[in-house]
Amino acid sequence: MANCPHCKGEINLTTIKQEKKGFGIIKQEILYSCPHCSSVLGVSRGKWTG
Ligand SMILES: [Zn+2]
Repeated sequence: MANCPHCKGEINLTTIKQEKKGFGIIKQEILYSCPHCSSVLGVSRGKWTG
């Protein structure tokens, strides 16, 4: 569990917003954003590793 650095809202794997930005099957980026304030928290390439 974590907290958003922007709005201090609670974030976890079930509430975090994931937006897939696909460039095909091999190159796929996932954008993670806060469900409360929609701030972008990070970008992951491929599968969730954290
Ligand atoms: Zn937030």
